[in-house]
Amino acid sequence: MSGGILAIVSHPDDETFGCGGTLAVHVEKGYEVNVLCLTCNPAERRAEIIDACMVLGVNEPIVFNDLHVTVDPGLIRRVSDIIVEKNPRVVITHLPFDYHREHKLVYQVVKDAVEWAAHTTTYESPCQVERLLLMEVNTLIPSPHVQVDISGVIEKKKEATDRYTTQLAKFQWGYYQRFNIKKAELRGVQADCLYAEAFLEEPLTSNSPFYTRKATKSLL
Ligand SMILES: [Zn+2]
Repeated sequence: MSGGILAIVSHPDDETFGCGGTLAVHVEKGYEVNVLCLTCNPAERRAEIIDACMVLGVNEPIVFNDLHVTVDPGLIRRVSDIIVEKNPRVVITHLPFDYHREHKLVYQVVKDAVEWAAHTTTYESPCQVERLLLMEVNTLIPSPHVQVDISGVIEKKKEATDRYTTQLAKFQWGYYQRFNIKKAELRGVQADCLYAEAFLEEPLTSNSPFYTRKATKSLL
């Protein structure tokens, strides 16, 4: 099935820690699932994200070679080009109140890129994303709007997490492994399942006049 999910993340590991279970669930349901990672620094993290995505079953990730995230028109256009190419119905990215400076910048880039990808003035075949969901990596969401049951794929999320040896080595007490599991348990308790991932639903701004879907014959 086309028109699936595109996760747009700041660094290799964000896709696994933030929404790896949700991605794996939708792969199992037969949807197309893609990952776009905006930086790769140091370069050996590329091998880790390719490995992790293979474990999750998603397509080979698109990884930009940028060292840092900057909110500029060039990056926004590169991201909107990928959105149009992959044509997802759902885009997942970072929280605007994430503690990590680059995660916050990626949120800004993606908000603009989703808008531009829908413009008929920019693209011959624009992509109108239906839902924009924001994930929790290390910063928790106070009151999630959406919780996806990942009980059936929790082993895949654990295995994908373990592929990030350079990141796991930063914390000898197993921070990432323990945090990811406890976070999924907490969301599972709230959602009445064993393990879940939580998201905020971000309203799409659709600010431009170039949306045919704005036309309607009736409000009821
Ligand atoms: Zn990150």
